Amino acid sequence: MRALLASVLVAYAACAMLPAAAQSGLPTLGDGSDLTVGDERRLGDRIIRQLYRDPDYIDDAVLDEYVQGVWQALLVAARARGELSPELDERFAWEVLLGRDRTVNAFALPGGYLGVHLGLIGVVGSRDELASVLAHELSHVTQRHISRLMTRQGRQTPLMLGAMVLGALAASKNPAAAQAMMVGGQALLAQNQLNFSRDMEREADRIGYGLMAPAGFAPQGFVGMFDKLQQANRLNDNGSWPYLRSHPLTSQRVADMQSRQPPGSSAALPQPHFEDAMLAARARVLSNPGIDVWRQWLAEPQGSGFAALAPVRQSAVLYAAVLVASQLREPVAARPLLPRLLALVSGDAPARRQAQLLAAEVELAAGEAEAALRAVPEGSGRPELLLRAQALLHTPRARVGMDAEVAQVTGRLQTRVATHPQDAGAWQLLASLWQAQGQALRAVRAEAEAQAVHYDYAAAVDRFRAGQELARHSRAPGDFVEASIIDTRLRALQSLLREQTAER
Ligand SMILES: [Zn+2]
Repeated sequence: MRALLASVLVAYAACAMLPAAAQSGLPTLGDGSDLTVGDERRLGDRIIRQLYRDPDYIDDAVLDEYVQGVWQALLVAARARGELSPELDERFAWEVLLGRDRTVNAFALPGGYLGVHLGLIGVVGSRDELASVLAHELSHVTQRHISRLMTRQGRQTPLMLGAMVLGALAASKNPAAAQAMMVGGQALLAQNQLNFSRDMEREADRIGYGLMAPAGFAPQGFVGMFDKLQQANRLNDNGSWPYLRSHPLTSQRVADMQSRQPPGSSAALPQPHFEDAMLAARARVLSNPGIDVWRQWLAEPQGSGFAALAPVRQSAVLYAAVLVASQLREPVAARPLLPRLLALVSGDAPARRQAQLLAAEVELAAGEAEAALRAVPEGSGRPELLLRAQALLHTPRARVGMDAEVAQVTGRLQTRVATHPQDAGAWQLLASLWQAQGQALRAVRAEAEAQAVHYDYAAAVDRFRAGQELARHSRAPGDFVEASIIDTRLRALQSLLREQTAER
C-alpha cells in the first residue's frame, strides 16, 4: 500500500497546518472521554474507505477465505470466552483486508478492521502461526486498546485521527518514508504515539494465547511465530518486517510466552500441512516479488534439488510455479505441472481442492472458459462460485437467457449477496452477469451496491441515479419492482453521503 503514502502525507501535512481557529470548527470527539464504540467504528470506516481505493488492496477469493477461516474461528472463541462484548460484536465490522505488500505485517484498525499483508501469509509455516498473529491483533481490539490510544491523542478531530493512523501505517511499511516524515517531525511523533504500550502488547499476547486452543489452533503457533520474529531480529531488520518494529520482541514477552508452555512439553511445533504451504506460496507469488524471482520459481520444479525436498515443500514449489506461469500468461508451462501437483496432494482433500481451483484459474487466464468450468471443483465455497461466474462471463452462454448454468450461478450469487451484503466481489460479478443477459437495471443496481460496500457513497448515488434514468425509459414488466428498490436505496445512500460529507 505504498501508493497510499504520498496522499496520506499530504493529508497529514494539511491537517497539521490547519490553523487552530479552523480546527475548532471541525467536529470533536468529546472532552477527553473514551472513544465510544460508535466513534471508533466511524473512524475505522473512514480509514478503510481509503484502503479500499489503494491499488495494493487485493480481493483474492482463495486467500481471503483462508484468512477469514482463521479470523472467524478466533472470533467464535473470543465470544465464548466473554472477551468479545455483545456491543462490540454487533457494532464493529470484523472485516479482514488483504494488502499485496511483501512486507511482513498485520495490524488492527479502529472499528474491528484487520489489515493483513500477503508478506505475512507468505512467511508463516502453519495456520497456527497465522492464528497467533491474528489472535494477538484481535485482542488489541477486544480489549479496547485502540480506543485508549486514540483517547490519548486528546481533542483531535476524527479526520486528524484517521490521517494519523494512515500515516503511521504508511510509515510502518516504509523506513525511507519514516525518515522523510522525520523532517516533518510531528508526523513521526504521531507514529510513536500510535504504538501500543508494552503492557498492552503483553495483554494482547496473554489473551490471544488463550484463544488459540478454544479456536482449534495449536497454542505452539505462538512459539513458532516468536521464533520467526527472533530470527528476523537477528538478521537485522531490513525493513521487510514492520511487524517486528510495531511489536518489539522484548525479553519480557518471550519470558511470558515460555511460562505459558505446559511444563515438560516438548514444544513440538505444529507441522505444516499441504494447504498451508500451497497458500503461503500463493501469497508469495501474488505479492509481486519481481519478474526475476518469478522466473526462478517457475524453473524450480525442473531443478536438481526438487526431488530431495519434503512433499509439503514440493507442493509449495509446484503451486508457485503453476501460478507464476498463469500470471505470465504461459499456460503451456503451467499445464504439465498441474498433474504432478494433483498426484502429490491427492490424498489430502483440502489440498486437492486448492490444486483444482488453481487448475481452473490457469484455464480461465488462458481464455479457455469452458475448460475452466470443467476444472472448478464441486462445492459451494466462495472461490468456486466466483470462478464459475468469471468463467461463464467469458462464454457466449452468458448472453443467452435460457442457459441453465448461467441461471444457476446467477441465483447463487443473488443468495450470496442476500446473506453477505458486504461481498463487493459478488455484487460486481452479479452486475456483469445481469449486464450480459440484458438486465440493465439490475446490473446498475448491483454496481451501485458494490460501490456502497466500499463506502464510496458518491459513486453509489451516481449509479442509482443512472438506474432511475434507465427505469424512466423502461417498459419491461419486472422493472417496476426494481425501480422502486432503486428509489429506496438512492434515498438511503444520499443520506449516508450527506453524513459522510458532514464528517469531513
Ligand atoms: Zn500488538
